[in-house]
Amino acid sequence: MSDCLFCKIAAGEIPSNKVYEDNLCFAFYDIAPQAPSHFLVIPKAHISSVAAIDSENSNLVAHIFEVIAAVTASEGIDSYRVVSNIGEQAGQTVPHLHFHVLSGRDMTWPPG
Ligand code: 5GP
Ligand code: ZN
Repeated sequence: MSDCLFCKIAAGEIPSNKVYEDNLCFAFYDIAPQAPSHFLVIPKAHISSVAAIDSENSNLVAHIFEVIAAVTASEGIDSYRVVSNIGEQAGQTVPHLHFHVLSGRDMTWPPG
């Protein structure tokens, strides 16, 4: 999608602090970290949120979770939280599917 911030980051048109990249997904550190380690994993294809996942694109979500497991393991992160906000009320501000991976501090439950 031409006017999407995360499409531009995935394409390298907007700079980011990259953690991982392959042909399907891109991971980069959040510009406003909410934990000592906070990165985002996004599909390169434009998908607006979890609400747009279907049988045609759910393979990307499976792949992203494999990447989350591998990247956290390679960084020595053994406890972390994966979050995806869907829609305004839940706090989604960028309408391109992304999974927050947060770690490095005690976390509370339920989330705010
Ligand atoms: P959401 O609020 O949609 O769940 O998450 C969007 C996240 O993207 C926020 O945590 C926000 O800090 C991050 N973000 C927004 N703009 C940029 C940017 O230009 N670069 C990076 N690295 N992160 C961004
Ligand atoms: Zn996009």
